[in-house]
Amino acid sequence: MPWQDLLRPRLTHPGPVTDLDVGFLRSQAVQGIVLDVDDTLVPAHVQVIPPGVVDWMAQLKTLGPVWLVSNNVLVSRIGDIAEQLNCPYICGAGKPSRRKLRQALQGMNLPPERTAMIGDRRLTDILAGNRLGMYTVLVEPIAAPRWQQLRNLEDWLVNILLYGNPT
Ligand SMILES: [Mg+2]
Repeated sequence: MPWQDLLRPRLTHPGPVTDLDVGFLRSQAVQGIVLDVDDTLVPAHVQVIPPGVVDWMAQLKTLGPVWLVSNNVLVSRIGDIAEQLNCPYICGAGKPSRRKLRQALQGMNLPPERTAMIGDRRLTDILAGNRLGMYTVLVEPIAAPRWQQLRNLEDWLVNILLYGNPT
């Protein structure tokens, strides 16, 4: 696989994660899910789970196990969110490292090709998931992210890496 492909999600979803069709994931033979937390499920600067996330998570869990895997090192934050959603979690994951994703997949007892990695960032979530051969889904942030300029810089860099120009 050309290295640029590692930054391309299998599915680019043009909306927040709560709009993502669980039935479509089922049609792709996804039987286990790793979910990013900050800006994917919950805005990074708030602790309150947005309306709709709890219901969507209940649908998602009909596919199989759902693990939260976050780069955030704050156990208090990620642990609290995971408890409210009743999911196993790993924090300080260091994505795009594969190590903690492998740990989650071992916990699910599923091979990568039957699992999905869903997140809002290419350089962490998508890169990590593609390195393992998971079904990768890029979603829009669930609310306007606090670090919009950093995100713009990341988009600019990824566009140069993928297309050779900052479109
Ligand atoms: Mg995120």
